[in-house]
Amino acid sequence: MATLNMNGSYELTAAKIDAVVTRTSPGNYALGYVNNENTFVVQYVGRSDSDVAARLKQHVGKKYKSFKYSYATSPKAAFEKECVNYHDFGESKLLDNSIHPDRPAGSGWKCPRCSIFG
Ligand SMILES: [Zn+2]
Repeated sequence: MATLNMNGSYELTAAKIDAVVTRTSPGNYALGYVNNENTFVVQYVGRSDSDVAARLKQHVGKKYKSFKYSYATSPKAAFEKECVNYHDFGESKLLDNSIHPDRPAGSGWKCPRCSIFG
């Protein structure tokens, strides 16, 4: 079974983000909700190359109720994990992500799971 390898889930509020995502760091996150079986249902996966807490706060008060997150050791590691999460949790067919995770221009990074970047 696919796993996010992230911390949480937590309620998606600014106060909760401040309480649990305390480092300024690249990282990954998933947004979704907790279902009747107390399972976190992934609806969207994302990353930040510099500050995952700040990125999460941009989602507060919109569609999603809960989040999970993890820190990444580098922007490249965050990109590769986002790719894996995207493929593991159903791609654009099941997720709200409308496109495959993008890479910074000129980075030359490749998806670990598909050949979208050649
Ligand atoms: Zn891919």
